[in-house]
Amino acid sequence: MIPYGRQDISNEDIESVIETLKSEFITQGPKVLEFEEAVNKRVGSSYAVAANSATSCLHLACKALELKDNEWVWTSPNSFVASANAALYCKANIDFVDIDPNTYNMSCEKLEEKLAVAKKNNLLPKIIIPVHFGGQSCDMEKIFQLSKEYGFKIIEDASHAIGGEYKGKKIGCCEYSSITVFSFHPVKIITTAEGGIATTNDRILAKKMAMDRTHGIERLNQDHIKNRNSEIWNYQQNRLGFNYRLNDLQASLGISQLKRLNEFIIKRNKIAEFYNKNLSSTGIQLPHVIEDSKSSYHLYPIRVSLLKGGINQKKLFYELRNNNIGVNLHYIPIYRQPYFRKLGFKKGYCEEAERYFKEVISIPIFSKLKNIEQQNIVKIIKEICSDSGL
Ligand SMILES: *Cc1c(COP(=O)(O)O)cnc(C)c1O
Repeated sequence: MIPYGRQDISNEDIESVIETLKSEFITQGPKVLEFEEAVNKRVGSSYAVAANSATSCLHLACKALELKDNEWVWTSPNSFVASANAALYCKANIDFVDIDPNTYNMSCEKLEEKLAVAKKNNLLPKIIIPVHFGGQSCDMEKIFQLSKEYGFKIIEDASHAIGGEYKGKKIGCCEYSSITVFSFHPVKIITTAEGGIATTNDRILAKKMAMDRTHGIERLNQDHIKNRNSEIWNYQQNRLGFNYRLNDLQASLGISQLKRLNEFIIKRNKIAEFYNKNLSSTGIQLPHVIEDSKSSYHLYPIRVSLLKGGINQKKLFYELRNNNIGVNLHYIPIYRQPYFRKLGFKKGYCEEAERYFKEVISIPIFSKLKNIEQQNIVKIIKEICSDSGL
């Protein structure tokens, strides 16, 4: 079965991990620092804090912004559950802003309307987590402007989007946000097996995230130690943190993968071009790329219009799977998950996200996807489409 996404590990990647395995540090050590600096340099941020997953980074980010019980966080329903769970870990309330019918990102019009209502009811969010769906940036300029007007903070969930650009700036530079989070899970653009990183330009936020990554502990310098008079203290716990550390083996894989980021983005964009060209005659809605933006193409979602009861999406989905093409679905609206239903969310809450969910299929896109495989995928889709008179 061809998966919808898969890692691309080279011999150099393997060598760099082996090298570290033979070194003194295999937990968090110099390689993690080196990886953080390399990411800063690549995306144009001042600080980076690597952790064992993007989920951990989202949690660290919410904690650093001092998210508290019963405060509100808003995110996109068209995302992986982690975007919302980070808020729930902090005992905050979660809510969802419907998506744009073209980009499938959080809709700025819907956001603006929702903010105006929330202001009247004194229920404005403390944090908004826009998700750069499939690798394409949200309209960050607009969201940033709204954050000034309504006083919320922004965490960009850029789990899909390392290597992407928005208005000439690299995603992750935090021009329009407090913190940006990337994921290095193997289906994402680059991988550390498991891992994530949070970038920021705010020294205090970076310091809090780095502390909370390791139990809320701060290492003390010599002056601090001397000031303790008779007792010897070499570290102190200031906050209730976690063990969210990335290790040096993962970081060395990350350093090596980051060097290949440009190559990966070029390959993914080439595959997207191939699909764009060869599927344009099928009547299927292809991904819409906004101006002034470069997608990292984590996903290639195609959209089949809804005929009787969604038969087309289902037919295409199962026929592709029967042909060993591991198509997937991104995403079931988060609030439709049983856990979120228990929080009180109802089917139909975000109309556009639900309409999209009933029509979309993610077809394979990853750097190692062969030409012959791409051709086969296109061929099968075309056959099914002409069968169903699309
Ligand atoms: C993958 C993903 C995450 C979580 O990433 P992990 O590194 O697996 O924790 C969060 N948000 C989105 C949008 C994702 O796709």
